[in-house]
Amino acid sequence: MRDSLIAGNWKMNGDLASATALIEAILAGDRGAAEVAVCPPAVFLMKIGGMLDGSDVALGAQNVCDHESGAYTGEISAAMLKECGCRYVIVGHSERRSLYFESDELVAARFDRAVDSGLTPILCVGETLYEREQGVTEAVVARQLDAILERSGIEAMGKAVIAYEPVWAIGTGIVASPEQAQAVHEFIRAKLAAGKAEIGQRVRILYGGSMNPSNAAELLAQADIDGGLIGGASLKAADFLAIAQSV
Ligand code: PEP
Repeated sequence: MRDSLIAGNWKMNGDLASATALIEAILAGDRGAAEVAVCPPAVFLMKIGGMLDGSDVALGAQNVCDHESGAYTGEISAAMLKECGCRYVIVGHSERRSLYFESDELVAARFDRAVDSGLTPILCVGETLYEREQGVTEAVVARQLDAILERSGIEAMGKAVIAYEPVWAIGTGIVASPEQAQAVHEFIRAKLAAGKAEIGQRVRILYGGSMNPSNAAELLAQADIDGGLIGGASLKAADFLAIAQSV
């Protein structure tokens, strides 16, 4: 039995006042049975880490540098994230891959650094609409996973959470059907299981892409969907809590 995880990706939204208000509401609200995590903008991590101290809500970051320290202007190291109280870090989000040209190799290097430092990567994989229409969804997801497996190996993958996020569903209001999502989750799990059966069974695979309180329960009821990575709906405490409660 895998424990569900509902993680909020706040992206580059809000300000310090709205971020602290959101955390206060999440801490005060009914989070159901799921493990809950929030991934605020990096400049708010230290403050929010302090607010979450002693609670069961986990802190995550939205990216991590692939180097340990040094002359990497604008980057944030795994050690710095840990100092803020982070347990999780999103790696390979499609916005990083498409808008900031992060290659499979760079994503793999960031993943490696996260695992090495004791952070749990939330590795995002997923196809574009064009790729889905071309019938290459599984090939794309396999390529993204292989980049990690080739560099870090199956044991490292066992220390991660995977988020299947079809690019066409992110921020669009178009959600994958439960059947579409389940099919890819099943494929991912089988691929990991081919590396090591126990890891295939144990690794949590989240769905991400326009998940909201009205579609969450049906998605989360699928056999291989172990939670959600939530963008837009994680910015409203009531919606985020409702999704957590539907686990
Ligand atoms: C995301 O960006 O990870 C995401 C799932 O966004 P949204 O829920 O807004 O589609």
